[in-house]
Amino acid sequence: MQGYTAEERAALVAACTAAAAHRRDHHHAAAVTCHPHAVEVVHLGHRAVMVCHDCESDSGFLPERAAEAVAHDHRIQTSSEAGSRLGPAA
Ligand SMILES: [Zn+2]
Ligand SMILES: [Zn+2]
Repeated sequence: MQGYTAEERAALVAACTAAAAHRRDHHHAAAVTCHPHAVEVVHLGHRAVMVCHDCESDSGFLPERAAEAVAHDHRIQTSSEAGSRLGPAA
């Protein structure tokens, strides 16, 4: 097999990895989402991508620690009052 450079192959693998993670996205009725959002960090070599299965967003591939930080921030941002839940949190 030839025609792809190592970089191109890596990019293809990265795209497939992110797409595979997004296939596990889930959907909710109305505006309800998980608290916090169902965030997944998918590692690929020394890089990782943060995929959120609730807002179907991803961070793109980043250094592992950066992706972990994005995931952490996203969980914090979506963990409580940021959502659309009615009434005070107990
Ligand atoms: Zn959810
Ligand atoms: Zn999210």
